[in-house]
Amino acid sequence: MEEIKRIVLNQESEEDRVVSLSLRPQRLDDFVGQQDLVKGLRVAMAAAQKRGEPLEHTLFSGPPGLGKTSLAHIIASEMKGSITVTSGPAIDRAGDFIGILTNLEQGDVLFIDEIHRLSKTVEEFLYPAMENFKIDFIVDKGPYAKTINFNLKPFTLIGATTRSGLLTTPLRDRFGIFYHLEFYGETDLGRIVMNSAQKLGVAVDQDACLALARRSRGTPRIANRLLRRCRDYAQVNAGKNHIDLKVVNDAMSALKIDTEGLDELDRRLLTVIKTQYNKGPVGIEALAATLNEEIDTIEDVVEPYLLKAGFLRRTSRGRELTPLALEHLNG
Ligand code: ADP
Repeated sequence: MEEIKRIVLNQESEEDRVVSLSLRPQRLDDFVGQQDLVKGLRVAMAAAQKRGEPLEHTLFSGPPGLGKTSLAHIIASEMKGSITVTSGPAIDRAGDFIGILTNLEQGDVLFIDEIHRLSKTVEEFLYPAMENFKIDFIVDKGPYAKTINFNLKPFTLIGATTRSGLLTTPLRDRFGIFYHLEFYGETDLGRIVMNSAQKLGVAVDQDACLALARRSRGTPRIANRLLRRCRDYAQVNAGKNHIDLKVVNDAMSALKIDTEGLDELDRRLLTVIKTQYNKGPVGIEALAATLNEEIDTIEDVVEPYLLKAGFLRRTSRGRELTPLALEHLNG
């Protein structure tokens, strides 16, 4: 149950995190798919390097596990800078930020994950830092208040968000480069699985690789996680370091992942709309309450893939099932 919950939430255990670090692409050449984004970034980085400037501030949006953090690390390494990693909810007060910003060297990358969750004050504090690499900080209050100015070294802010729609316009406008990451197709996911299998030193048959790609909800992080679970399954249950189609099928049924890659929560959501809301439409609040899940989890993690795969439709009156979903649930 614990295992399934983790997969459902697209989060990683400590062990998974360590392994997934070793699977993370190191260079833009190793980053599979997202061709337009890769092409655009390559040009922007080459141009900035030619001018001897850092890359412009860059925003990546898209569902979790599609490569936003990996891209931030790749950019830092290709631009020969260091990277400082933080996240919107981790920065409570503007004061927390001063140390981070003043420690950045020319060309360094500051990566802020979940940037849509920065507080209003911290966000406003960030504007001059992004715009002219300056910050103003007020110390003391009343008649003793003093403004201290800091000059920062030119750096690149890279923001990642699962919800670009929640970003304020002034913040969004301060990014020179903005890309939305799309779910990956089966061919790209198959390549990712093959590359990762090679790094993990496990053999995977071609048909097994395709079956894994198909069940990965368009998401490299899930593809890598399913590959690791199949490796465990092959080693423990089949006593071999080789993943064939039977291993994939058996491991997936043990994890309760169906042929479309849908997990328990996906199926629960579709089933609830079918049985309790007469196929929809149903509003997100009612759906979240019935499922006993956070609205954010449904909107950020569960829904995007169901929409993309054509199981769910969003209308002005709420979410409704498509004929494809009904066929899948009945099948
Ligand atoms: P996000 O920040 O969008 O949640 P990550 O960058 O943490 O996603 O990616 C999760 C994992 O998926 C990475 O550790 C990496 O192994 C893999 N990954 C993501 N995108 C790609 C890609 N385009 N090519 C190869 N591996 C990828």
